[in-house]
Amino acid sequence: MRNSTNNITLPSGMFKNILIKPRGMASAVIVDERALNHLIQAQALLPSNIQLVLTRAFQRESFFLKVARGGGAVLFGIIFPNRKGEILDIFGHNGHATDGRHLDVGVINCNSDIKLLPFGVFTPLKKIKELFESNKFVLNNVFDALEKSKFSIHKNYTECMQIHCDFID
Ligand SMILES: [Zn+2]
Repeated sequence: MRNSTNNITLPSGMFKNILIKPRGMASAVIVDERALNHLIQAQALLPSNIQLVLTRAFQRESFFLKVARGGGAVLFGIIFPNRKGEILDIFGHNGHATDGRHLDVGVINCNSDIKLLPFGVFTPLKKIKELFESNKFVLNNVFDALEKSKFSIHKNYTECMQIHCDFID
């Protein structure tokens, strides 16, 4: 049987060892308490120069979000006609509308934000691969710590770069 979820709401700022930085227009991150505890464990596995940033977890589906994602998906199909197979991965809600166990995580290394998607989801694959290469050491550390803490990292390149990970209970 699946455990019930218990969401907590966190405003911007530090919560234990995690930096909370709500994305876009959100003023807080709503996250499942157990998933958050495992993120805290992941942070504890990392060297002190690497700081995890929680930017999004549960996000109620709204009309505005649906329209924005629908428009984004159409535009993506026009800009990247060869990547239509990724639209569902990138523009689906990826569990964020279901519960607080699906997290988007950012990384600060030595006090500077690692910008992995300079053009958001419209960042070309070539650029993503370059940025991954130049931050490989830090990112592999982060992915490893998350996986050891029961998170599964999204397989799509773009989602992987906004470190979308699902808490596997
Ligand atoms: Zn996500």
